[in-house]
Amino acid sequence: MECQNARSLIPSYLDGELTQAQAGPLRQHLLDCQPCRGSAQDGKNLKRWFAASEPVAVPAGFAARVARRALQGDTGEFPPSLAAPRAEEERGRMLRFVLTCTAAAAALLFVLSLGMRQLALPHSDRMLADSSPQLSRAIQELDRLNAAERKQKRAELDAVKTKPKAGPDAPLESGKKP
Ligand SMILES: [Zn+2]
Repeated sequence: MECQNARSLIPSYLDGELTQAQAGPLRQHLLDCQPCRGSAQDGKNLKRWFAASEPVAVPAGFAARVARRALQGDTGEFPPSLAAPRAEEERGRMLRFVLTCTAAAAALLFVLSLGMRQLALPHSDRMLADSSPQLSRAIQELDRLNAAERKQKRAELDAVKTKPKAGPDAPLESGKKP
């Protein structure tokens, strides 16, 4: 049997669809030919990944319950005294570890979603303010007017007093006109 023929028959062989007459020569070729044997082994390993398994049903409200318990500080671990090193116990420990990870992920998602919701509004407002050219122009204009007013006030102060008070936060009394 040629390698090309063997390769084309391997999938059917792995699925058990070949007759004895077809499977016999292929089996003989796989015994003799290392590359084809490797290919058959790869196909076998691949098949294992896609083997049908029992569908796993997640009970209603499972994620919410897990998240709630995780938020209450439940790590899913038994006290050390109860942790007997038995195979069944190991399996339970593994399951609890997976549950803890799931709970942590669920809790994290929950917190993140809360955070996102709180951040969403101010964030978009800020974006609007930053990206609005009219608003920034108005703010610049306001700053300019304020500066002009301060300058005028200081000029008035200078005119009244020989020793002018520095800064715009000078008490109002000193700014009174005579
Ligand atoms: Zn071959």
